[in-house]
Amino acid sequence: MKRIEKFIFLLIIFLLPANLFAWGSATHAYISKQLCQDNSDSLSIYGSVVPDFFNQERNSAYFNFVTKITHYNLDKIKKESNKRNLNKFALGFISHNEKWGSDLTAHKKARTNFRNGYASGKGGILAPFIEAELENLFITQGISFPFFLANSIASEIAHPLIEVAVDLQIKFHEDEFIGSDIKSSAIYRTAYVPDILISAYANDLSKKYKISRTEASDIIRNAENSFCESMIQYGEILNQEYDSAIQQLAEQGTEMINYYLNSSYAKGSFVTPEIMKRFIELAIEKTKDDYFKEISETIKYLKKRSEVKKLCKKISKTK
Ligand SMILES: [Zn+2]
Repeated sequence: MKRIEKFIFLLIIFLLPANLFAWGSATHAYISKQLCQDNSDSLSIYGSVVPDFFNQERNSAYFNFVTKITHYNLDKIKKESNKRNLNKFALGFISHNEKWGSDLTAHKKARTNFRNGYASGKGGILAPFIEAELENLFITQGISFPFFLANSIASEIAHPLIEVAVDLQIKFHEDEFIGSDIKSSAIYRTAYVPDILISAYANDLSKKYKISRTEASDIIRNAENSFCESMIQYGEILNQEYDSAIQQLAEQGTEMINYYLNSSYAKGSFVTPEIMKRFIELAIEKTKDDYFKEISETIKYLKKRSEVKKLCKKISKTK
């Protein structure tokens, strides 16, 4: 492939959304429910998923910056939540971070395998299987550069597929209420939530990109709003029977991949929901024996963190 073609191609692949859907949210929610004694609270559940509120804005110029600060800068969230007496929200939020929270164990350093994050490590195992199947598909469809295309897509989707596979297993083996918990946490999340995010992050965003504070606030408010709606949808999907949940997730993933394939040079190429469903089932197969061990170890580890202990104490005092 010529260099310029490769460059254009990489650009197109980059447009695939980071999370094909808000995958992984049920795992974050499940973990947040176990952190303090009798603290299964809707506000901490929403707090545990909302750090990903900008994940679907991958084409935005602010994507890298906002996802970075919501995953690393926690102090202002704690402060703003405390001011409003919403420490439960802060508890969920800080459990998610990538510095030492559950995203660290998912993306960088698993509790049961320190070399790799759990989802990234499993994604690496899953990717070659997906790549092989996509290669065959693209060859049959007569698409140019089938190997390169299959390789890029497989490496993009393997990680989110692992996350959705773990979410499904959480719902169908560990906590049957997790779908409705996520859904109601999003429906009833108070207007304070966007306010906290804005107070914590709008100044940094406006300074970094030299935009007005109002503009920065609107960017955060709008993204959180659409994220909130997607959480209601995701909760609803997880609330279905197994077959229908997996089918709907497969259809959504398919739609997004096909949209991007068809806006690239690979016009006329398409993945079917059946293929996507097989990928999700394969991801379940690769995780079913050890996902629960990893999640239990993550919960044990998080409960020992002083940041978590402090918030649990504050929450129990205000009861
Ligand atoms: Zn995250």
